[in-house]
Amino acid sequence: MQVHNCYKCTTLSKTRTNIVQGKGPLDAKIMFIGEAPGFNEDKLGEPFIGKAGAILNNLLSMSNLTRDNVYVTNAVKCRPINLEGGNRRPTDEELETCLPYLLTEIEEIKPELICTLGATPLLALEPEGVISLMHGRLFDRPYGKLIPLYHPASAIYNRDLYPIQLEDMKFVAESLAKMEG
Ligand code: URA
Ligand code: SF4
Repeated sequence: MQVHNCYKCTTLSKTRTNIVQGKGPLDAKIMFIGEAPGFNEDKLGEPFIGKAGAILNNLLSMSNLTRDNVYVTNAVKCRPINLEGGNRRPTDEELETCLPYLLTEIEEIKPELICTLGATPLLALEPEGVISLMHGRLFDRPYGKLIPLYHPASAIYNRDLYPIQLEDMKFVAESLAKMEG
């Protein structure tokens, strides 16, 4: 699914450079859902190409998964900026406004596993979701099988999280292997 000429969020549609589309093979078995594009993603129009993307790639390769084989997208497709021009979290309203695109993407890709990255995309799909309680576990949901993960960038601020993130990503790889028998 490609989102074209969307102006549903007045603010985001004015400040964005690009609508950042999901990227990956349409028959990908895993879909990763981040929060929203950051500076680099907005400039180049691709998800997870900055620092967080490098950490995501590292976690994938450490778990014998390849970025080329997975589908990566965001809960919100346009970059939210704060008053200083830096990244900010999307508002609840922006998440809700962009959600239909994400649900369509899930229906189109039909991934065997959906992995949210961080608290924000988890809340988009699970309004009661609590990342610290749900990370690294498999949930069977009407929209698909969900494994919530911490956001890759959280390792930049909290090094202690890295081993947990690695363990969780290995659980993702093992779960997929089990599902494929
Ligand atoms: N962080 C996100 O959540 N998404 C991106 O695409 C990049 C960084
Ligand atoms: Fe449209 Fe989503 Fe961008 Fe909002 S964030 S303007 S809903 S594409």
